[in-house]
Parts: sequence; structure tokens; C-alpha cells
Amino acid sequence: MLSALAGTAFDRLKAALGRLAQQPPQVMLFEGGSEVQRLAMARYWASCCNCPQSPAPCLVCQTCRQIATGEYLDILAYDGRISNREDEENPGLVRAFSMEQVRELKSRLRDVPHGSGRRVVMLMGLGQNRDEAANALLKVLEEPSPSTLFCLLAPQREQLLPTLVSRSFCLTLPWPDHHVTDPALAPWEESLATFLRQGSGLLDKTSAKGAVDATLAGQILLSCQKALGRLLAGESAGESDVLAAALSRLDAQGRAACVRWLDEAQEMVRYGVTPARVLEALAMRLFVSCRSAGQ
Ligand SMILES: [Zn+2]
Repeated sequence: MLSALAGTAFDRLKAALGRLAQQPPQVMLFEGGSEVQRLAMARYWASCCNCPQSPAPCLVCQTCRQIATGEYLDILAYDGRISNREDEENPGLVRAFSMEQVRELKSRLRDVPHGSGRRVVMLMGLGQNRDEAANALLKVLEEPSPSTLFCLLAPQREQLLPTLVSRSFCLTLPWPDHHVTDPALAPWEESLATFLRQGSGLLDKTSAKGAVDATLAGQILLSCQKALGRLLAGESAGESDVLAAALSRLDAQGRAACVRWLDEAQEMVRYGVTPARVLEALAMRLFVSCRSAGQ
């Protein structure tokens, strides 16, 4: 479990979790890092709240070992990216997140935990949906349940419903050192980078029917935010880092504007503006901004 959390930056976060465990917030939100690191950090948090040696968990006792493998009975994990059918076909440790599961969760929360510590409910892949299950979950989080702690895991807090975030104690893991592009996003990053240089090559992609849904648009915007973050942190754009290379043409004023535009674009996608139009408008603004900086 801890191999994913090596380094002084993680040591500081682990120490912070140890302190928090003495009076744990009901809802924690782990953002940043990689998916593996977020899960490892959430499990470390579960150890902080369950190991007999808490708040500094030993990581070798039976409780800690079961937490590390996800087999501990007082850990429940739900992933909104899994369909009910996938869940039924692979009855594993992680459940789909549906209305039925929320009902089952509510009934489980009435029982006392199996161990002497606290039950930890991990929630992943929640996204921006405001469906029945999401609303029911919000109600569950509002109800006091002293023996239960919730952990939300997300790449970036902006991807979650603001009402969820506002209830959470947010902890940001260090962003991965090396830029690795998700293979599904790479063609979009390339098209966008090309558009920023030439003013063409993106709109035929976005205008294809159903090509961009809100989730994909959110991911593309997140890629831009991260690329800009690397630039602002003074990292030089590597060869594969096409977006950061394209955005590096912006001057200081353009970069500041870009931060704002990206936030606005995330907001528009969240409020249901057609995702393809949001991306196009952003790309055009950035193209003009890159142009005028280059003159
Ligand atoms: Zn332990």
C-alpha cells in the first residue's frame, strides 16, 4: 500500500491524516495524485482510524493488512464508473453506485461496524451527475453517523458536485511528476494543440455527432488545466507534452486569462452547455491569445 505513497510530500500528508484521525471529519475528499495513489491514501486513512495503534497506524497488523488489500469488512467501496451489470457479473470488493446500492448502504450504516474502529465508505467515479442515486447519497452524507467516515476520491474536486465538495475536508495529493497522457485523451490533446498553432483541425472533430459528452469535455479541460499547471510551475514541456508546448506560447497575461477561461468552461459544462461548443469557444479564445502573444 505504501509503495504508491513514497516521498516526503506524501509523508507530510500521512502525518496530517494521523493528526486528523483524532477527530476525523465525516467526509474526506482525496484529489490529485494518480488513481492508485488516491486509493492508497484513502486506505492509509482507514488504517489511521482502525489500527489498534491509531492514529499512527502500524501497517503490519491484521487490520492494516486487510485494509491494504481492500478485504477489511468495515471498508465499503463504490465506483460510479461500474455499471450494475458489471457489478453483478463480477461480485467483487467494489460495487456499482446505483439507487439500489445507496439503499443497501443506508441499511448497512444502521449496523455497528464489525471491528472496534470506524467504518470507511469509499466513493469513486462520482462525476457531476445529479441523478436519484447522487441525491440519495447527499442525504446519507448529511445524516450524522458517528461510526462511519466517507472518503470521496476524484482526480480534481471540480469534477464533483459542489454540494459534495462543500461537505468535505479536502486533501490534495501531489500531482504526478511525469506527464502521462490517457490514450483516450491523446488525440484530443493533439488536435487542440494543433488548433492553438494553426487555428484549424479541431472543429471537424468536435462537430461529429455525439463526439464529445460532458465527461470527455471535463477530462479535456482537466488536461488543459494540468498542462497549464505544469507551465505555471516552471516545468519545461517535454516532447510528448503537446498541450503544455502549445500553451507555452501564451504570455503571462494570456496564461492568467487561460486559468479563468478554463474555470468558466468547466462551469459551463457543469451547467449543461453543449460540451462541444464549450471546447470550441475555449479553443478559439486560446488561439487568438496565442496569436497576439506571438506578434
Ligand atoms: Zn495496524
